[in-house]
Amino acid sequence: MLQLYVPLNFLGVLYREIKQSLADMEKLFSLLDQHREIADADSATPLQVGNHAGPEIRFNQVDFSYESNRQILHQVSFVMPAGVTTAVVGASGSGKSTLARLLFRFYDIQHGSIRIAGQEIRDITQASLRASIGIVPQDTVLFNDTIEYNIAYGKPGASHAEIVAAAQAAYIHDFIQSLPDGYATMVGERGLKLSGGEKQRVAIARTVLKNPAILIFDEATSALDSKSEQAIQTQLKEIAKGRTSLVIAHRLSTIADAAQIIVMEHGRIVESGTHAELLEKDHVYAQMWARQQAHPELELWSESAETV
Ligand code: ADP
Ligand code: MG
Repeated sequence: MLQLYVPLNFLGVLYREIKQSLADMEKLFSLLDQHREIADADSATPLQVGNHAGPEIRFNQVDFSYESNRQILHQVSFVMPAGVTTAVVGASGSGKSTLARLLFRFYDIQHGSIRIAGQEIRDITQASLRASIGIVPQDTVLFNDTIEYNIAYGKPGASHAEIVAAAQAAYIHDFIQSLPDGYATMVGERGLKLSGGEKQRVAIARTVLKNPAILIFDEATSALDSKSEQAIQTQLKEIAKGRTSLVIAHRLSTIADAAQIIVMEHGRIVESGTHAELLEKDHVYAQMWARQQAHPELELWSESAETV
């Protein structure tokens, strides 16, 4: 993807990079406070998600462009039912990650509304919005610090026992214990390099600690080996239980049991339904499913879509 940056200053560039990767935003938001393009409304109130597990989320006729001359989302409307998983599939560039960025309110939309449990996200405080959403991004960025710090970051002030419990839930505890310095092992660019699957597990552990009502999982495009992939999928399904989850998927097999599947093409929803309903419709999703069944080597939706 070609991107033009106007390097007004270093932080501005960094801010855009971070937004793009959807990663580690809470920390950087406080760091970059004065560079926020999005501000709380004077009358902003904290998001109320209630006591029940996950809130219902509604996108209503959302139009969105990053740049004024190119509209990315066109009249996007869908409802994510409370406490279950909605999956989004579609070719690379169709607008899947944009949906996640908008839900997190990295950008304001030009038309329409996004509501969580009936509350327009423009009217709620960003701090409460972001505290309610856990993201397992496509590519997890680790800090050059200990693995304990990297997990704890999901919940500032978490105790060691809580961190270990989260690592266990993410099935990374045994791996951490096998490291020479255990939880004190330095990771990141200047420390121990973790594999893609290990990094995703760290992100899952962070999310377990954070315990958010809403979960966003942006599946890695770069294939993990299929064993790690399956293990991570299984863990995510466990963690998604009772939360309202948005899963951006590249492998259709991983989302066949989602409560709802949304199919995006060029910034529009072209169809939605359960796996069975979409097969019944025998349209875009059904064709893609048939292709992936016939050619298991075409694992990625984007790859297969682009070779059509
Ligand atoms: P997907 O996740 O489906 O691959 P994205 O939601 O990331 O797609 O992108 C949708 C479209 O928006 C693409 O055409 C992409 O080039 C464009 N886009 C994404 N991020 C930006 C940005 N920061 N500035 C301008 N255009 C962007
Ligand atoms: Mg994406």
